[in-house]
Amino acid sequence: MKKKQIAILGSTGSIGTQALEVIENNPDRYEAYVLTANNRVDELIAQARRFRPEAVVIANESCYTQLKEALADLPIKVYAGADALCQVVEDTAIDMVLTAMVGYAGLRPTMNAIRARKPIALANKETLVVAGELINDLARVCGTPILPVDSEHSAVFQCLAGEVGNPIEKVILTASGGPFRTCTPEQLATVTKDQALKHPNWDMGAKITIDSASMMNKGFEVIEAKWLFGVRPDQIEVVVHPQSIIHSMVQFEDGGIKAQLGMPDMRLPIQYAFSYPDRLKADFPRVDFTLCNHLTFERPDTTRFRNLALAYEALHRGGNMPCIVNAANEIVVAAFLRDEISFLAMSDVIEQTMARTSFVAKPTYEDYVATDAEARHYATEIVKQN
Ligand code: NAD
Ligand code: MG
Repeated sequence: MKKKQIAILGSTGSIGTQALEVIENNPDRYEAYVLTANNRVDELIAQARRFRPEAVVIANESCYTQLKEALADLPIKVYAGADALCQVVEDTAIDMVLTAMVGYAGLRPTMNAIRARKPIALANKETLVVAGELINDLARVCGTPILPVDSEHSAVFQCLAGEVGNPIEKVILTASGGPFRTCTPEQLATVTKDQALKHPNWDMGAKITIDSASMMNKGFEVIEAKWLFGVRPDQIEVVVHPQSIIHSMVQFEDGGIKAQLGMPDMRLPIQYAFSYPDRLKADFPRVDFTLCNHLTFERPDTTRFRNLALAYEALHRGGNMPCIVNAANEIVVAAFLRDEISFLAMSDVIEQTMARTSFVAKPTYEDYVATDAEARHYATEIVKQN
């Protein structure tokens, strides 16, 4: 069997390293063809020595010499910079691109990979939040499949297997509620980044962990679901399920609901995106229902977690509004991680940035680039005044 050649954008992150575990556990099926990182050059060197990819890319160009010298004894191509990261996905030998980098930076390489007709295993949800319509149109024109990696969307995707022609009535996205689910508004006002970085069920990168604590992550996942599954906003419901055993559900037109369950472990959705439509044998932890015998469900509170309401608002207003929210969110999360603003101030800054940034109803790629820059500028100003 020819091994599937996989390019991992963001191989040193939480998703990237778990994807490498999946590859390592299936050496006769998968090979890492390209590995990329932003700054973590030592990790990238170690990965390259272990997985022997065809090429590595470090986005931060100042790390190029170190990377090049450390791999000089191996026949591995070494590149640096954002342009190289975009181009590397075009290599004809690549069979699939896993987008596991974080934030808006994923947009351009993802577009390039779609144009090069490489099936996308999509973890970088920000790409669909920012430019879902553009990405969908491009994928349709190029005939490039986009397979979800986000656990909720993988769950929906798994529920849809065998349901061709059966319309979705409702997508039910589950949310853990994060570490502050039971906090009062007074408590939320003083929570710290260390508390926010302790997610109860998932071990993830810092940015998505803060997004989970503020529930912006769930707002983004609502937008992601719209573009992945072609459903209207009123067909997407969020239910808080603190145990994270049900990863999401689909309700069909006869009222029947299918759910996908499992222990919280991202290796399963990563592997499913790699192996779809097959399922591969794996020793991921199994659910023991005698231990997980108390599955609970709550309505999300958009008064305490305003980011969820702001994301729904952006979805309803459409155009470049989700791009504005994403840019403002990247600025406030970085500021919160530097202790420059409070947890609750993040929503204030996003809301004010939404009001100030120019609205574009039918954005082109160039409009998204301009919107991202303008929204970052305003959000940065507002953070400073805060
Ligand atoms: P992470 O911070 O652990 O890793 C990010 C990776 O991207 C690193 O390899 C980093 O070097 C690279 N990177 C960051 N900025 C970059 C840039 N500007 N240019 C090039 N490379 C860059 O993040 P993560 O938790 O692995 O999340 C990655 C993506 O997957 C995010 O979009 C996140 O929302 C999504 N996701 C993650 C999880 C999870 O469990 N971690 C679950 C669902 C979705
Ligand atoms: Mg998720």
